[in-house]
Amino acid sequence: MRQSELFGKTSKTSEGSATSANHDLLVRAGFADQLMAGVYSYLPLGWRVLNRISDMVREEMGAIGGQEIFLPALHPKENWQKTGRWDSMDVLFKVKSRTESEYALGPTHEEVIVPLAKKHISSYRDLPRAWYQIQTKFRDELRAKAGLLRGREFLMKDLYSFHASAEDLKSYYEKAKGAYTKVFKRCGLDAIIAEASGGSFTKEYSHEFQVATENGEDVIFACACGFAQNKEIAKVRAGDACPHCGTPVKELKTIEVGNIFDLGAKFSKDFGLKFTDESGKSKEVIIGCYGIGISRLMGAIVEVHHDEHGIIWPQEVAPFAYHLVSLGDDDEVYEQSEKVYEQLSKDGKEVLWDDRREASNAEKLADADLIGIPTRLVISPKTKGKIEAKKRGAKESKLVSNI
Ligand code: ATP
Ligand code: MG
Repeated sequence: MRQSELFGKTSKTSEGSATSANHDLLVRAGFADQLMAGVYSYLPLGWRVLNRISDMVREEMGAIGGQEIFLPALHPKENWQKTGRWDSMDVLFKVKSRTESEYALGPTHEEVIVPLAKKHISSYRDLPRAWYQIQTKFRDELRAKAGLLRGREFLMKDLYSFHASAEDLKSYYEKAKGAYTKVFKRCGLDAIIAEASGGSFTKEYSHEFQVATENGEDVIFACACGFAQNKEIAKVRAGDACPHCGTPVKELKTIEVGNIFDLGAKFSKDFGLKFTDESGKSKEVIIGCYGIGISRLMGAIVEVHHDEHGIIWPQEVAPFAYHLVSLGDDDEVYEQSEKVYEQLSKDGKEVLWDDRREASNAEKLADADLIGIPTRLVISPKTKGKIEAKKRGAKESKLVSNI
């Protein structure tokens, strides 16, 4: 893509209202625009990143047997009354129609997928199943100040798994943990798996995937041996001996990028989701649910991967692999650049070409650092027919003949 045609302008100065690095950098670099607190528009650069994350999540969900679906965001009130969450869920957005009917804007989708599953699961032969979607969720969050980390409208991947027994759920749950760890690694993040309470409706188990960073809203107690608990439920305090290995546990500020739950039979009971087992006995289906905040993940990546000049995208989620920057105003530079741009594009390599003749060299280099594409390729009168390649965040560059 040619930068001269790109929808999205960079800005040197932070807005006075910016309260987090991810908001500040993503808005200044032209990835996102804030419509109101907790609600963002995504411009081409930002939408490319979200799609790269989503596609990676699709790969990993597919690898554990997940099938992708797409559910409605507008839900009937009755389904939410059936689970008790119409009254108990404080973040639920409620909408009234002109005929006084009431609806919920989906903050999560058990109330839709469980009744749907009921139409398709009736026998042990129909189990196990795993279905997921990537969709916009709505939550009436009180504190929506941390950029993409806490949205009122945000993108989530939610997978639901259906099982004949608690043991079968447990083995799938462990697979999902593995898939989640892969997703976060590919995003350039080390996620700590922390024990969490299962929420209000389950005495079963739940785990959070937590990324350590100063801007995190969560607090966990963690130990290098792998033990970690969310502070909200923790039986330990900072400095206490780790229950697994005895080393003092550390207190860390974190961002929760994913959360997985054993829901047991709670929602199956609410909607009468049963199956007939091999001996002809009717039993409730056991359900697991698994969320990843796709847009929060994008914010978390920026919180972890940036410096004073801008974003440093990990390779797999970068909007483009290469940022080709033409400096100066010589026709030869632009002719050589066009050839390189066309060759890279022909080779299937994604490249943003800064072909703006009116922008100054300093502006172009500052923009490249702000946008944070992993490899910068500079062509200027000084490179004399060659290309100066530099990794974002690295000090050294090298002169190469081709890419
Ligand atoms: P939190 O504890 O941060 O409020 P949650 O535990 O309520 O989140 P889940 O219902 O488990 O979140 O949702 C699954 C995932 O969706 C979370 O792990 C998080 O990554 C993401 N998520 C939840 N709420 C938001 C939000 N308001 N904005 C952006 N992402 C969110
Ligand atoms: Mg949580």
